[in-house]
Amino acid sequence: MTWSLLTSIATTERTMTHTITLIPGDGVGPELTEAAKRVINATGVKIEWETFDAGLNAIEKYKDPLPKSVIESIAKTRVALKGPLTTPIGTGFRSVNVALRKEFDLFSNLRPAKTFEGVRSRYQDIDLVIVRENTEEFYSGIEHYVDARKSAAETIGIVTRTGSERIIKFAFDYAVERGRKRVTVVHKANILKYTSGLFLDIGREVAKQYPQIEMEDKIIDNMAMQMVLNPNQFDVIVTTNLFGDILSDLASGLVGGLGLAPGANIGYNAAIFEAVHGSAPDIAGKHIANPSAIILAAAMMLEYIGEADSGKRIACAVAAVIREGKKVTRDLRPDNCVSTDEMANAIIEKL
Ligand code: NAD
Repeated sequence: MTWSLLTSIATTERTMTHTITLIPGDGVGPELTEAAKRVINATGVKIEWETFDAGLNAIEKYKDPLPKSVIESIAKTRVALKGPLTTPIGTGFRSVNVALRKEFDLFSNLRPAKTFEGVRSRYQDIDLVIVRENTEEFYSGIEHYVDARKSAAETIGIVTRTGSERIIKFAFDYAVERGRKRVTVVHKANILKYTSGLFLDIGREVAKQYPQIEMEDKIIDNMAMQMVLNPNQFDVIVTTNLFGDILSDLASGLVGGLGLAPGANIGYNAAIFEAVHGSAPDIAGKHIANPSAIILAAAMMLEYIGEADSGKRIACAVAAVIREGKKVTRDLRPDNCVSTDEMANAIIEKL
């Protein structure tokens, strides 16, 4: 099922006031989601927010990183806007982000990367979309030490025919709907002959159903180099979970940094919108984080719930503020920068 079909379902089931789950997250999350809420509010779209803690904040309050109330709310509203959630490295609780994607089978992680006029960057005119498989392979959480001495560790990555077919079809359908020309299937089938090999085989099978779209495949290591050498050659990229995670941060870097990269996690029954970046603990609470990524994610969310005009207005307002370059955060202009809230105010003024 494609983005527009999902969108039309969301639209027909909704009335004038949309009920949406909000997870402010931790680190820079609360300051950024607050800015996004203000921007949405300024468009006139009416939203009743159901706000919940998850991750670190929920552990402190409820001793549970993913309380049942969060799951119940998303199951009801079917749409969420989420701030980043910190995941402890190595030890501690498992990623709540991964758990949410699995819980609602949000198999498609859509991460556009587009050049903004006004951003100092090595490249111009990048306009690519990464479609990352979001539920399988090395993020399945099937891992363990082989013994108590931790002499070895094993992570099992399972790639299924069903999972690969639906994500690759999603990418091709997205390309058709958006008038895009080419889909690049990224893999490591020369070494991971079974998992990556299956993904590539299915890519070739699915491509036959879309003769109007050019299909090419690239091995992940070459892909990383090609994206740095000449990112303009890419249009829609579809790949497995881990490669997609890494390539989408790379793509964010090509267009000016994580502060500009939005993402959507989409399944048949629910969708969660968020920035690609994490909780940025190094700048949390300083009100210097760039709100563009979460605001652009909110714009994608508005399109999803049938408020496409407001979504476009927001995206244009963000682009205008970045183009002018006067009221932007430190990542875009180290001298004479403004705060997160001031940049959000400038975006609101442009609406
Ligand atoms: P990060 O994305 O939080 O930060 C990487 C770098 O980018 C930092 O220097 C940070 O200051 C900068 N940055 C990030 N967002 C920015 C913004 N909006 N404006 C300006 N600069 C920005 O990555 P990390 O430090 O590796 O991860 C921190 C935590 O976030 C980890 O616990 C990780 O697991 C988690 N994480 C969560 C999500 C999510 O919730 N979806 C995604 C990625 C990472």
